[in-house]
Amino acid sequence: MSSRRKFVRRALGGLLGVSAFPSVFASAPPSPKGGPAVVSTWKNVAANSKAWQVVAGGGSALDAVEQGVMVAESDPKDLSVGYGGRPDRDGRVTLDACVMEHSGNCGAVCFLEDIEHPVSVARKVMEHTPHVMLAGSGAQRFALEQGFEKKDLLTENARKAWKEWKKKEKYQPIINIENHDTIGMLAIDQSGQMAGACTTSGLAFKINGRVGDSPIIGAGLYLDGEVGGAVATGLGEAVMKSCGSFLIVELMRQGWSPEAACREALSRIVKKQKGYRSFQVGFLALRADGEGGAYSLHSGFSYMLNHTGEGGNQASKSWL
Ligand code: ASP
Repeated sequence: MSSRRKFVRRALGGLLGVSAFPSVFASAPPSPKGGPAVVSTWKNVAANSKAWQVVAGGGSALDAVEQGVMVAESDPKDLSVGYGGRPDRDGRVTLDACVMEHSGNCGAVCFLEDIEHPVSVARKVMEHTPHVMLAGSGAQRFALEQGFEKKDLLTENARKAWKEWKKKEKYQPIINIENHDTIGMLAIDQSGQMAGACTTSGLAFKINGRVGDSPIIGAGLYLDGEVGGAVATGLGEAVMKSCGSFLIVELMRQGWSPEAACREALSRIVKKQKGYRSFQVGFLALRADGEGGAYSLHSGFSYMLNHTGEGGNQASKSWL
């Protein structure tokens, strides 16, 4: 705890009694014990294992989350991420991604086309520009300048699904199906440093130009290495309206457990957003001391929690 915070705590405690502020002062933020640990949304064993190999081998949390989610970005069977992701209504695959590291530094891209690894472009935005987010053709130009190559990301399978969808053009996100594979990942490395990443092709058959929560710092991902991190999956609009990931980290800062913080973030959605029964949102958090937790609106959301190299897939508790 910084000396300034100690001073404020002592001063207020002396004046008013610490018990007057139980939710603020009763539990200080957990102190990092060091990793390694890797958590990630849904059941992407390969992506989680890749990240685990990096931290277990002494690599950084940032390298781990980047390399971990890159596995999902390259997998054509992942219908909501990178190559093989479902296109928008116009048949275009547009990608959103972000990264955030221990110190609060972050980078993001959105509405990016024809680049297989948006997470790596997001990292370059963080490391090589004074900005946080680049969008669309500007993001693509930046990626090409950084040495990334263009690739057609619309697989035959995704093109067929789009053609099928075009017959009716009915836009109705299906819980746990269309949303199924967006990957958010959080890691702690052996030195106790944390990082997070989130990457997606967004909702299938979205309006061209739509950007979801996944590249938005504070919505799809937020992390403060002294406290922990959180990621979101599901209907991005619901997550953005509640600043879900930021809220979860701030609740953990006040002493809430990861699971309780995720549940509380969902309770805000339930309270404010009338249509909550018809969409899915899942939150996943990792506290700086290695404790993970998750909560979703509907059952069916699962996550990988890996502290030992034997990361198991866990079902999250759900509101409904
Ligand atoms: N949250 C993502 C979005 O709204 C979708 C997902 O998680 O699958 O773009």
